[in-house]
Amino acid sequence: MPLRIRVRSRGSGPTRRPPPGERPGSFIVDPGRATPPLPVYVLRSVLESMHRYARSGGEFEVGGFLLGGYHYHEGHSYLDITAEVPCLKARSARTHLTFSNEAQREFHRVAQERHPDKRVLGWYHTHPGYGVFLSDYDLFVQRSFFAEEHLVAVVIDPLEPPSQRTGVFVWHRGDVSHGYHLIVYDQEVP
Ligand SMILES: [Zn+2]
Repeated sequence: MPLRIRVRSRGSGPTRRPPPGERPGSFIVDPGRATPPLPVYVLRSVLESMHRYARSGGEFEVGGFLLGGYHYHEGHSYLDITAEVPCLKARSARTHLTFSNEAQREFHRVAQERHPDKRVLGWYHTHPGYGVFLSDYDLFVQRSFFAEEHLVAVVIDPLEPPSQRTGVFVWHRGDVSHGYHLIVYDQEVP
């Protein structure tokens, strides 16, 4: 099936910045149970809006793109998801999701208008009622279109209990890892 996801990278490597929890005014809400090879932080409000969108899809898959920063601190790289763009024009069905060319154009338009300072960090989609994992098709998408060290896949099963609802899959030793927990943080409003 036709699927052409063009991810425009801004810059190449990570930039220096202390992670959430070590920045003034930020604090960790949920450290997750396992730290992936590449820790992935997510702002609480962004995760909540992804979960709302996931539930709104009912029994159909929905998805979108992840944006934020790719940073390093004291020799360790990490990702910081600070925005998500629901891909409203994705074609959704019970067990698969494709991003049409139109949906991708829409995403790039929104990303440039609303988040010009953020990098694309990957994609997310839902598996309503059948668990958090990457299917063969999802692995194909990740390996084909998100094959850079800072591009991840997030899967949400809105019907799972909160602690098992969300997984992030990162690149590790040249392949896609198993699912890890996101590290959820929040920050005081200045
Ligand atoms: Zn999937």
